[in-house]
Amino acid sequence: MASQTGQIVQESLNALMQDELFLPELQGLTRKQMFTSLTAILSTPNHIHKSFLRISLEDGRVVRIPAFRVQHNDTLGPYKGGIRFHESVNEDEVTNLAVLMTLKNALHEVPFGGGKGGVILNPRDFTEKELHLICKKYVQYFSDVLGPDKDIPAPDVGTGEREMDWMMAEYKSIRPGTPYRGSFTGKSVVNGGSLGRREATGKGVYFSFRYLLHDFVHEHSRWLAGSKNVFAQTALAYRDQPLTLAIQGFGNVGSVTANEAYHCTQLNNKVVAVSDRNVTVFNPEGLDIPALIDFVSKSAGDLPVSEEELTKAGVKASILDREEVLTLDVDVLFLAALEDQIHDRNKDQIKANIIVEGANAPITGEADRYLNEKGVMIIPDILANAGGVIVSYLEWLQGRETQFYSENEVYHLLSEKMKGTMNTILPQFFGDPYSLRQNCYIQAVLKLSTILYRQGKLY
Ligand code: GLU
Repeated sequence: MASQTGQIVQESLNALMQDELFLPELQGLTRKQMFTSLTAILSTPNHIHKSFLRISLEDGRVVRIPAFRVQHNDTLGPYKGGIRFHESVNEDEVTNLAVLMTLKNALHEVPFGGGKGGVILNPRDFTEKELHLICKKYVQYFSDVLGPDKDIPAPDVGTGEREMDWMMAEYKSIRPGTPYRGSFTGKSVVNGGSLGRREATGKGVYFSFRYLLHDFVHEHSRWLAGSKNVFAQTALAYRDQPLTLAIQGFGNVGSVTANEAYHCTQLNNKVVAVSDRNVTVFNPEGLDIPALIDFVSKSAGDLPVSEEELTKAGVKASILDREEVLTLDVDVLFLAALEDQIHDRNKDQIKANIIVEGANAPITGEADRYLNEKGVMIIPDILANAGGVIVSYLEWLQGRETQFYSENEVYHLLSEKMKGTMNTILPQFFGDPYSLRQNCYIQAVLKLSTILYRQGKLY
C-alpha cells in the first residue's frame, strides 16, 4: 500500500490493538492474530485490473492507453470510487486512492467499499470523439467487474458528467435488460444524475470547515476552553475572527468551495487568492469570486492570466505564479488540486494555520507530520471531501427507486451526514493527542474491523 495511507492505517491498527475497550473479548494470542489478519486485509487491494485500451485516433494513428481499476475492499458494500484521466496516473497512485475511498466510506458510514480507476492520458490532447471512444473502451474492457452491485465508478480529476453519461450508456448496451442507472454516478441530471452532485464535493469541503470553526466551536466553547489540546485553542482563537482564505485549484471542487466561502454569512471570510494550472489570482482585499466563475465558464476553464483578461473579467487582482497560492500569508489554505502539493521542499514555507484538503492526499506523509507538530490544524481529505461520494450514494439510491430528490433535500441530507461524522470525530480530536487525520483513520478502521470480525473474516 502506498506510503502515507499505509502508515496511518498501521498506526490506527496499533492504537486499536492497545485500546482495551475495542473488542475486549479478544485477548492474548487471538487478539494478536486478529490484528495480523486485519493488517493483511487492509494493506492490500482485493483486485488490480489493468488493460491497454486500443484507440484509433482521428489522424489515423492507433494507440494503446494504459487503464486501471483497483478494487481495494468491499467489506461495507460494492466497490466505489472515481475514474481519473491524468498523465501522472499509475498503479500505486490508483491503489492509494482506492484505499482512501475504503476509509472515506467507512468513516462516513456510506455503504460502499473502496475502488478507484485511472487512465494515463491528458484529456486536453484528445478530441471529443476520441474521448468518447476511450470511455466506451474503458467500460468494454472492465465490464465484467463493474456494475451497480459490484463496483460503481464516478467522476474524478479529468472526468465529469459527460464521461459518466457515455460510460453508463455503454454499460447499458453491453448488459441489456439489467439495471444500469446505478452503474455509474456523477451523471448529468437528465441522464439520471442527482441534483447537487456536481457541487457536492466543494460544498462538503466548505461545510466541514464551517462546521468545525463555527457551529462546533460555538456549541462547545466552554468545554474547548478547558481543554489543553493545542488545536482546541486554535479553534477558539479563530472563532468569529475575520479570516483570509487561499484556494489552490479552481475546478469542480475549488471554484464551488470559493463560491461557498464568498457567500457564507456565518464566517467573516475573505477569499484573497485562487489558483489553477497557470496562475494564482490575488487580491488582499478579497476577490470577486462570482465574476471569476463567470470568466472561467467562458474560457475553457482557465483563470485570467493577464491584466487584459482581468479587466475583461471585471476583477481587481494581481497575477502571481501558480505555486504562490500555497505560501501566501493567509489564515486558511484549501488544497483542491492534486496530490503531493505540500511536500518536503515547501513544507516550511506554509503560513496558513488551518489547511482543508479538498483533493485526495495533497500533503505528503513527511509534510503532514511536520505541519502537525507545528500546530497547523489539517482537516483531512477523507473527512472534508466526502461530499462527492455521499451524494453519489444518494444518486445510486434515487436511481434504484426512480424517485428523485430536490436540490434542497440533497443538500440537507449531505450536511446531516457530514455533521453526524463530525460530531463523532471532533470531541475525540479535541480531547486526545492524535491529529484529526489519525482520528478519522482510527474511526474508519474501527468500523471495518468490527464488521470483519463479526463476519468471521479475521482468522
Ligand atoms: N472521485 C470522488 C472522490 O474521490 C468521488 C467518488 C464517488 O463519488 O464515487 O471521493
